[in-house]
Amino acid sequence: MTNIPYKIYLEESEMPRQWQNIRAFMKELPDPMLNPATMKPCTAEDLAPVFCDKLIEQELNDIDPYIDIPQPVLDFYHMYRPSPLVRAYNLERELNTPAHIYYKFEGNNTSGSHKLNSAVPQVYYAKEQGITQVTTETGAGQWGTAMAMACGFFKMDLTVYMVKVSAEQKPYRKAIMETYGAKVIPSPSNTTEVGRKILSQYPETGGSLGCAISEAVEKARQNDNCRYVLGSVLNHVTLHQSIIGLETQIALDKYGIQPDMIIGCAGGGSNLAGLITPFICQRLQGKNNIRFIAVEPASCPSLTRGRYAYDFGDTGRTTPLLKMYTLGSGFIPSPNHAGGLRYHGMNPILSKLYHDGYLEARAVEQSKVFAAAQTFIRAEGTLPAPESCHALKVAMDEAIRCRETGEAKTILFGLTGTGYFDLAAYQAFNEGKMTDYIPTDADLQPGFASLPQV
Ligand SMILES: *Cc1c(COP(=O)(O)O)cnc(C)c1O
Repeated sequence: MTNIPYKIYLEESEMPRQWQNIRAFMKELPDPMLNPATMKPCTAEDLAPVFCDKLIEQELNDIDPYIDIPQPVLDFYHMYRPSPLVRAYNLERELNTPAHIYYKFEGNNTSGSHKLNSAVPQVYYAKEQGITQVTTETGAGQWGTAMAMACGFFKMDLTVYMVKVSAEQKPYRKAIMETYGAKVIPSPSNTTEVGRKILSQYPETGGSLGCAISEAVEKARQNDNCRYVLGSVLNHVTLHQSIIGLETQIALDKYGIQPDMIIGCAGGGSNLAGLITPFICQRLQGKNNIRFIAVEPASCPSLTRGRYAYDFGDTGRTTPLLKMYTLGSGFIPSPNHAGGLRYHGMNPILSKLYHDGYLEARAVEQSKVFAAAQTFIRAEGTLPAPESCHALKVAMDEAIRCRETGEAKTILFGLTGTGYFDLAAYQAFNEGKMTDYIPTDADLQPGFASLPQV
C-alpha cells in the first residue's frame, strides 16, 4: 500500500471539465417544481422573469448525465481549484481511532466557502445573456461574498439582501462584499413591498433567509435587466457543486481509497449533494454500498423533523413550490444559532434520496459542534466554518465509535469553509456563553401550519 500524503492535490490538468447531473441517474425523479398559480409543473417560460435562461435549462434538465463547464468558468475555477483532499492524520491520532479520516477542503478562496463554485457559473451565464444586474440573499454571508467576487470579476451589478441578524453580527462580511463592489441591504428592509409587509407584521424580527429571498426575487421581477440567483437548494446549484465530489473521486482513485461513509453538513443541501454526486450516482447503479449522512443543526431540523411536502422557497410565498423536507416557509429560526444552515427547506434531490432511504440524517446541537471544532482546530490547525463543523462533529462521533469497535472505517467529510468571519461565535463558545436551542413540537407547529394545501 502506498503511503497516503497529508494532502492529496490534483494537477490543474486533472480537474474535471464537466459537471455531473444526479437526476440523470435517478430511477425515480423528485416531484417537479410547481407553478403556484396553476399548480402545474413549472415551464421554462414561468421561470424566465426570475432566472437566466441557461440556468433554467440546467434546472429542468434530467436527461444529460454530464454537462460541459464553460471555459471562462474553468479559467476562474483555476484561481482556487482543484481544492485539496486532506487526510486528518493528526485528528486520528488525537482521537486514538483506527478510522481513516479525510476531508475535502473548500475554504481555500477569499469568499471562504464552496459557494463560489456556483456563483461563478451563475454570473457567467447571466452575463452571456446580456443581463446587467443580479440580486440575491445571504444568510451567514458566504453566498453574498462569493457572488460579490464573481460579480467583481465579470463586472456585473449586484444587490445582496443580507439577513439582518447576520449583518449585525458580521460587519466585516458587509465590508468585504462592498470591497468587491456589491450593494448590501439588511433584510427585511423597507426597499421592497414584501420587506415592508414583514416589518409591519414582525417589527422586531432579525430576518431569515426565506424573507431575504422574497426581497431579492421581488427586485429581479421588477426589472427586465435583472435576474435573481440562489446559492443552494436548486438543481442547477447542485449540478455546479458536483465539482467537489468529482475532484474527490479522482483524488481517492489515485490512491485506491474507498470511503465507507460520506458526511456533509446540510443547510439548503448544495455542498452535500455536490460532494456525494459521483458516489451516489454509482450507488444508484448498485456499484457501491457507501453510507451518506446529512448533518443539520438541532435548531433547524428540516430533514429529521420536517414534513416531506410541497412548500414555497421563501417566507413571502412568491417562489415556485418545491417538494422537499421542510419546516414550513413560515418557520423563523432562533437568532441564537451561530452559523448558517438556517434554511427552512432542503434540496429536493437530497429530500428524495432521504425519502427513498439512500441518505441518513442527524441533527446536532451547536455547543457540541463547537466542542468538536475545538478538538479539530488544535489537532489539525485549520479554523473551520461553524456550518462545516456539523459534519466534522458526526465524522468525529463515527471515528470514536471505530475506536470502541476496533473497525478501521474510512470516513470522508466535507469541510465547506473557513471560520474567520465566525469568530464572534467562537468567542461566545470560549467564554461559555453559547446556548442551545431545540424547538419543541409546539414551536414547529406554526411553520407546518404555513404549508400550502397541494
Ligand atoms: C452555505 C454554507 C453551507 C450550507 O449550505 P449548503 O447549501 O447546505 O451547502 C455550509 N457550509 C458553508 C461554509 C456555507 O457557506
